[in-house]
Amino acid sequence: MRRLLVVNALIFAVLAAAVALAYYGFSYTTEAGSPERERQMMTDLAEEKVLGIEAFIDGADTKLFRNVQLDPLSNLRKAVETSTAAVASVFVLDDKLELVLGGDYYNDTTYTREKAATFRKWFMTNVRPRLPLKTADRLVRGHVFDHWGDTPYLFSFTRKVEKDRTFYIVVEDDLVHLVAFVFPQFFNTNGLRLYQVVDEIDGRVRYGSQSLDDDPNHFVKVPFSETVDKWVLRVSQKDLTDPEVIARRRVINSLLVGGAVTVIILGLGFLVIAIRRERRANELKSDFISNVSHELKTPLSIISMFGEMLAAGRTKSAEQAAEYAEIIWRESVRLGRLIDNVLDFAKIERGMGVYEFAEADIGEVVQRAIEVPQRRLATAEMTLDVDIEHDLPPISLDANAFTLAVLNLIDNAIKYAAEGKKLAVKLARDGDLIRLSVRDWGPGIDPSEQEAIFDRFYRARSIRLKPIRGSGIGLALVRHIARAHHGDVTVDSVPGAGSTFQIWLPIGDRT
Ligand code: ADP
Repeated sequence: MRRLLVVNALIFAVLAAAVALAYYGFSYTTEAGSPERERQMMTDLAEEKVLGIEAFIDGADTKLFRNVQLDPLSNLRKAVETSTAAVASVFVLDDKLELVLGGDYYNDTTYTREKAATFRKWFMTNVRPRLPLKTADRLVRGHVFDHWGDTPYLFSFTRKVEKDRTFYIVVEDDLVHLVAFVFPQFFNTNGLRLYQVVDEIDGRVRYGSQSLDDDPNHFVKVPFSETVDKWVLRVSQKDLTDPEVIARRRVINSLLVGGAVTVIILGLGFLVIAIRRERRANELKSDFISNVSHELKTPLSIISMFGEMLAAGRTKSAEQAAEYAEIIWRESVRLGRLIDNVLDFAKIERGMGVYEFAEADIGEVVQRAIEVPQRRLATAEMTLDVDIEHDLPPISLDANAFTLAVLNLIDNAIKYAAEGKKLAVKLARDGDLIRLSVRDWGPGIDPSEQEAIFDRFYRARSIRLKPIRGSGIGLALVRHIARAHHGDVTVDSVPGAGSTFQIWLPIGDRT
């Protein structure tokens, strides 16, 4: 009972999880597909990238500023190299904004020796006055980004005080290096998005694809604000701007989520059915065991009781002794058949090849089979009407198994339909088939149970309360035998008017 509760709770939990998954999946796909949400996601992404790049530049500059000292002046080349900053040139100015002796550095790849000299002059006359070095007292750090001529320059500067001496460090950040090596580290070109950095002064694309869609609805832009502050980063989706693509993606996502949920629910459904079946089978099995034990015990106790009487000579007459002996014989036949049934059934259940087919005259097999229950029929006061067609074609048959099937049908008629007083067994050809029918005039079988009685261990509701012995495997065995012969067994019954069981076998089918 507790296990059942746990199983039910588990099934419920899985179902709830599936529903939650479906809900989440559905809302995600509808939301993820919406243009507003896409734009928001792209804006967040662009802001994150801009922030990352600016922090990178700033971090490297700070490290460089820290490395530079005035007294004695640091080796600027070494200071640059140990700072990881990508720097084109560095100038150290004193408090009168004059260049400190030896206070300049030029990157070899950007400036040759001659160029360096002209650049220094150019810097002192054109750039130095533009840097707000002295304007704000509190100013410690700053950046100036602008175009001089056609070329963009980014200068980062700081004020430092050392032993009461104020000096300024101005760093020219290497924008070529920034575009060629730093940007690619931040922008994944294989992803779903396209990146472009545009210079707003001249409208030139400084980084990324030249051919980005110009429609402002298709991209988001975030400006750089701390460093290259006239550059903007634009982010767009590769080809997902197309509403058709978005719609298709939404359909695919919904299908995937829907499919997964359907599979889960179907799986659960099957699980529930399997558990129910298993439970039913277990119930039936335990019924079967008690029925069989009962069926074995009853004839055995009868045999032992009458056997004991005979052995002790406690009989009044020779007739009575013969009667006791007959009872013993009858019960032992019953016992034998029950054991046959159980053993055959067990073999079939284990899936063992239990049939041995041989060419046989089916008329003869049936004739011999009906000899067996003659006495039992007489005891039950039933008459047997036999009609076996002559010259039936020989068919491939397991004679023992088929006999067992016929005996089971006749036994059932004696057990359940004795009140009809009559039993008719007919064997005849019907086209490509041979039909054996066993007809009785007993209570019949409820239509709702006519299929189930062929299931193993099943016994009709109406007889469960009656003291009629049975195990519920007889008809299951009959069906197995019929199907093993490539045929089948059916029942045709009207409650109150009797039942007709028919086994039909195909002719000419070599098994
Ligand atoms: P058992 O006879 O051991 O119960 P069977 O598999 O032979 O098992 O039969 C299954 C059920 O079918 C029986 O319990 C009975 O209810 C019903 N049945 C079988 N044959 C007849 C019949 N001739 N008339 C009425 N009911 C029958």
